[in-house]
Amino acid sequence: MIYLDFAATSPVYDTILKNIEEMYKKYFYNPSSKYYPAIQAQKFYEMQRERVADVLKVKKDSIVFTASATESNNLVLKGLNYKDRQKIVVWALEHKSITAQFETLKKYGVKIAIINNKIGVVKEDDVLNLIDNNTKLVCIMGVNNETGALNPIERIAEQIKKYDKDILVMTDIVQWFGKLEINLENVDFATFSGHKIGGLRGCAGLYVKNKEKLHSVIEGGGHEFGIRSGTENIIGAYSLAEAAVISRKKYMENWGYLMKLKEILVHFCKENGFLINSPEESIPYIFNFSTGRIPSEVLINYLSSKGIFVSSGSACNKGKSSSVLKTMGFSDIVVNSSIRVSLHPDTRLEDIEHFCHEVKEGVEKLAL
Ligand code: PLP
Repeated sequence: MIYLDFAATSPVYDTILKNIEEMYKKYFYNPSSKYYPAIQAQKFYEMQRERVADVLKVKKDSIVFTASATESNNLVLKGLNYKDRQKIVVWALEHKSITAQFETLKKYGVKIAIINNKIGVVKEDDVLNLIDNNTKLVCIMGVNNETGALNPIERIAEQIKKYDKDILVMTDIVQWFGKLEINLENVDFATFSGHKIGGLRGCAGLYVKNKEKLHSVIEGGGHEFGIRSGTENIIGAYSLAEAAVISRKKYMENWGYLMKLKEILVHFCKENGFLINSPEESIPYIFNFSTGRIPSEVLINYLSSKGIFVSSGSACNKGKSSSVLKTMGFSDIVVNSSIRVSLHPDTRLEDIEHFCHEVKEGVEKLAL
């Protein structure tokens, strides 16, 4: 089996799987309880918050645990106060968990300005041209989940704050977190998820620089600084922190190797006349290309029959063609024949070579 769909989800690291049984037994208590083992559980939980904060180089109390990045993205956009400023500036290629909220936000009176660009990467001027004194928030993801485009979010955030420090900056770093270092100095909100980096499903987080900027969408017992009520998921928090630490080390140590794998894919596409959809400025572990000859689904099924698992884009598209590639202005043929390959530092070189071999053979067999 060759799994090349790590951007959709990733297998849980063995260390985490090994540890969780013992941890569930040791820390099953409700951390809000006041007896000794519950206090220990609370301490353990807070330790995980600190570990996540360390990965992001931010203060411990700025980390809010949630159950998914989808939830984190909703907590920010729906939790802002739009009384003083009504405009949000959003990149056109954001994940569904951002764009699906537009209709609801419009009902709150929010005006949405879209950063539309064809090159698939946001430039500082694209943002500076759209912000004004009615802008509440700028929302730009760090790494695009379909193309791997790497946005210069740190520089953009700095420019936004220079223009007006009261404009809030939000970034979805789901495909960045635990893989690349990030400087959140000028960022107000960042969202991330455990299952993309070898943690359990149902553990995710939200970085909030200033908690007063958010009101709670989920009301209840006031957990997570009142931002996200619900009994704490202690083991989930552990798996998020542990996965982030393991993943970051692996990606940092193997960055050059991942670049080499990407070069093989680039060379393969050029040699066979396939179009590369990932922009120049992209990370090495997500690569998107189109054969232009075979519908994505047909090639994905063919590869699946050979034990190779890839996707055509975001898992959240549920079989629909990629709106990201459409928005980037690619033709229907390109959009409908796209393949996304997403890698892990443990991906073997021979797996990539085998993938290339099977794609070539599949295209030769299946093309009309
Ligand atoms: N944002 C991006 C960029 C993603 O790739 C995903 C997952 O596909 C999400 C948000 C949603 O993450 P979750 O599955 O934790 O809700």
